[in-house]
Amino acid sequence: MSGTFLESIALVRTLPCLAEPGKIIVVGSPSRSLADVIPYLAALPNVIVYNPQTLSLTLRRQPGLITLESERVSITQVVDAPEGMELLAALIEAINATWEHREELVAATGQRRAPRPLDIWRLLPQTNCRMCGEMTCLAFAFSLVHHRRGVGECEVLGSSEGMVDRQRALKALLG
Ligand code: SF4
Repeated sequence: MSGTFLESIALVRTLPCLAEPGKIIVVGSPSRSLADVIPYLAALPNVIVYNPQTLSLTLRRQPGLITLESERVSITQVVDAPEGMELLAALIEAINATWEHREELVAATGQRRAPRPLDIWRLLPQTNCRMCGEMTCLAFAFSLVHHRRGVGECEVLGSSEGMVDRQRALKALLG
């Protein structure tokens, strides 16, 4: 059987990346649904959060995040649209390689995994704006882990379309 699962991901739009001013978020539309491959991608080591109910997966990259849903992907902290195209091409390769080797992987069926402050911090805007009353986003991350604060208390997360994926991932991560 051919290992090619996915032919292309079209870059459909870019948004400003609040986590790193001057950089962008690229949003892509895959040429077919990613629903069948996402549980295998969720078995990879760089997963920050996976929600099997919504088939929403957030992966760590250096720097930034990749969020995959059945019909949509987004990549944060991208330099410009050409870099976005390169990253989407690399993502297609990674998806196809994962699909090709899926029999060696165990598809993830459960929620991943106990939240760690640093993973939560990676999903926060990292502006240290103090609007939530904490001195830093990292302090807010610790408060979230210990359930002293709620995701909705970071107003920056709710203020921009580019932060929607992060807000959703945080809610999934924190349960
Ligand atoms: S409101 Fe708090 S958590 Fe949100 S960006 Fe500002 S300092 Fe960070």
